[in-house]
Amino acid sequence: CSIFIDESYRNFTKALNLINNTTDKNINEIYDRVLVISDENVYKTQLNKFIDLLNAKFVSEYIVPAGEESKCIDTFEKILEHGLKAGLTRKSLIIAVGGGVVGDLSGYVAASYMRGIDFVQVPTTLLAQVDSSIGGKTGINLGTYKNVVGAFYQPQFTFINVSALRTLPDSEFRNGMSEVVKYGFIYDYEFINYLLENSEDILDKRDSALRYIVKKCAEIKAHVVEVDEKEGGLRKILNFGHTFGHGVEKLCHIPHGEAVSIGMNMAFKLSLKINLINQEYYDKFLQICKKLNLPIEFEGPSEEEVLSIMKTDKKNSFSKINMILPTEHGKVGLFNDIDDETILEIIKECKNA
Ligand code: NAD
Ligand code: ZN
Repeated sequence: CSIFIDESYRNFTKALNLINNTTDKNINEIYDRVLVISDENVYKTQLNKFIDLLNAKFVSEYIVPAGEESKCIDTFEKILEHGLKAGLTRKSLIIAVGGGVVGDLSGYVAASYMRGIDFVQVPTTLLAQVDSSIGGKTGINLGTYKNVVGAFYQPQFTFINVSALRTLPDSEFRNGMSEVVKYGFIYDYEFINYLLENSEDILDKRDSALRYIVKKCAEIKAHVVEVDEKEGGLRKILNFGHTFGHGVEKLCHIPHGEAVSIGMNMAFKLSLKINLINQEYYDKFLQICKKLNLPIEFEGPSEEEVLSIMKTDKKNSFSKINMILPTEHGKVGLFNDIDDETILEIIKECKNA
């Protein structure tokens, strides 16, 4: 799928024209109706700017409450009903303006409405810009079971305005930073050096730094999922930090990004222990977490509890835990023969006593 990266929403219509092989057409000359789906916070901070520049005649908005709870069957059904009432046809377009919640939900609505209508992603969180808006995974939760209902459904394109990140709360920005760091360690070691050298500009949300990191990460994600759309091989490297992280995320009720950086720390420690990497490489990881304020230790549950949650991860196969571990600069490998005792030891070492 095509990705456009910009510093405002101004060129959205241009991108739409480019994708449709047209020039200077208004959106309603391409689609009969447009439905923009967003959430309350994005509505307050971003949506006016976007809608103004969209300049559409036949547009309706559907605003969901902010938060994971909106990724549910109930909201899914309400949006479909709204679509019918608003007269959306097979020639209409859905635009998701928001974070991963809005993107996943809207994508699944688009995949389902009249067996699938066009949709476009306009991600407004760092996590959505570098991760969830790319790759075509859409879906909703079923009660407490996350992402168990959904479809692979590609957007027409993803339009990223990095300036949208200015209004994003710091905690949400940090959430996405863990994934940014992840991309460097799984795929591009040079990028790690860039992050270290430019951490201040990144934390200050300077446009040029944001543009650079978003572009890098979006390209890596796009490349990985292009090679492996349905998660057979290469896509597994994206789980770096997530297997260990899954355990602490569930038990400590901490944000996903924090769990991922703690999970990456565990993976690094394990690699060091079994001599896949040296201390110098691990120190680099610690240094970057410090610069970007990413946590590396957890508090609370016992190592046995964390391990038992890790074993329930749906990404395991045949009860073996699939571990993605750093092997060399900017590379990771898949290991599924690590014994429980070693894993328990590592988890314990990352517990803040
Ligand atoms: P989110 O969508 O809940 O957004 C986080 C918060 O930021 C919300 O409160 C939102 O209202 C607010 N917000 C968004 N943009 C803003 C802006 N520009 N200014 C101010 N506030 C803003 O969370 P998220 O972290 O973006 O996404 C998490 C979701 O993504 C989860 O449901 C997860 O399952 C999903 N996900 C999907 C994929 C995929 O491949 N489809 C990958 C990773 C995660
Ligand atoms: Zn993640």
